[in-house]
Amino acid sequence: MHQLINHIVEISSRRDRTEINSAMIDALLDLFHPRRLTIYRCYAQSKKAMVFACAGTSANGVYLRNAYRPDVAYCLNIERDPLLNRCRKELSAVLDYLDDGAHRVVFPIIRVNEPVYLIDLVLSDDFSADHRVAMMGLIEYFGNHIGLLDYGETDTLTGLANRKTFDKHLFELLGKAASDAGSMADTPTRRHAKAGATHWLAVCDIDHFKRINDSFGHLMGDEVLIMLAQTMSHSFRFDDQLFRFGGEEFIALLQPTEEPHALTALERFRQNVEKQAFTRVGHVSVSIGFSALRPSDTPTDVIDRADEALYFAKRNGRNQVACYERLVAEEKLAVKEIAKGEVELF
Ligand code: GH3
Ligand code: MG
Ligand code: MG
Repeated sequence: MHQLINHIVEISSRRDRTEINSAMIDALLDLFHPRRLTIYRCYAQSKKAMVFACAGTSANGVYLRNAYRPDVAYCLNIERDPLLNRCRKELSAVLDYLDDGAHRVVFPIIRVNEPVYLIDLVLSDDFSADHRVAMMGLIEYFGNHIGLLDYGETDTLTGLANRKTFDKHLFELLGKAASDAGSMADTPTRRHAKAGATHWLAVCDIDHFKRINDSFGHLMGDEVLIMLAQTMSHSFRFDDQLFRFGGEEFIALLQPTEEPHALTALERFRQNVEKQAFTRVGHVSVSIGFSALRPSDTPTDVIDRADEALYFAKRNGRNQVACYERLVAEEKLAVKEIAKGEVELF
């Protein structure tokens, strides 16, 4: 009993998903001795659902991966694992008996009819009813804690990640970029990413949004923001990170790729917005500026460069995508040393 309480206290003291996973793995291993254990984070898209094994046990012991950044090397289309897929469809715990007498059980953590996490355990058959109740309680507690975290990380209007979460992501990503450059770490992401591929940061700003507010009122303006966020979610890959940066500005942090691919993804988003007919308001467009993350960057540096490209797009007719590095190479933009800390967005 006190053991269980101690673990709950430990989990509740953490605010970072990776650390919460770590405490949850400790609790499950210590209390229930599973033969195998995986915590999956789930990503639902319009067409397919992906799961990311962000923590668990392997032949080499416990592994922990950054729970905020799905690593494609450890992601799986949920349909490839029938038990996980059944759990997703039935939205309840599912069980499978294995050949060696053990059983595998998967518990979902559910948010609005979709699992956001799955907890996958292989257990020996000598498992008491008391243990089962304690385990379900612990998993329910974990789900509630994650629920609070979701609430704190999400923008309430659009459902995208909020500004605070963006700051955390970018900071971590730049920290990682700096240490990768130093150590040449051979992580799976590095092996799979092509040489020359980098993360990209794109700032998207709605064109003439003031007019929308003035003509149709703020409520319709808000409606446009909600629909735009949905279009954004459908336009990018599941592992690209999307944020509402503020007012009518959105940010996409793209996984490592070359410039033409980043441009293609952003163009697809721009065109999807252009095509969409918004209720009453009609058609809306966005301007987008983007730039590569560099190991030496502070968060402000890369936002400033993307912003420079965004200004260029605005000055040159709006409803277009502009790449900072390309504009500089084509001498359409001068490399400007922007004073640190001086961020100006539309
Ligand atoms: P531009 O094409 O140059 O971007 O023109 P713009 O009118 O969009 O100009 P700007 O980006 O500077 O204006 C942003 C406007 O967005 C200001 C404000 O009235 C509106 N806005 C900001 N946040 C919200 C919000 O949460 N809801 C609504 N309805 N409007 C917002
Ligand atoms: Mg605007
Ligand atoms: Mg703006």
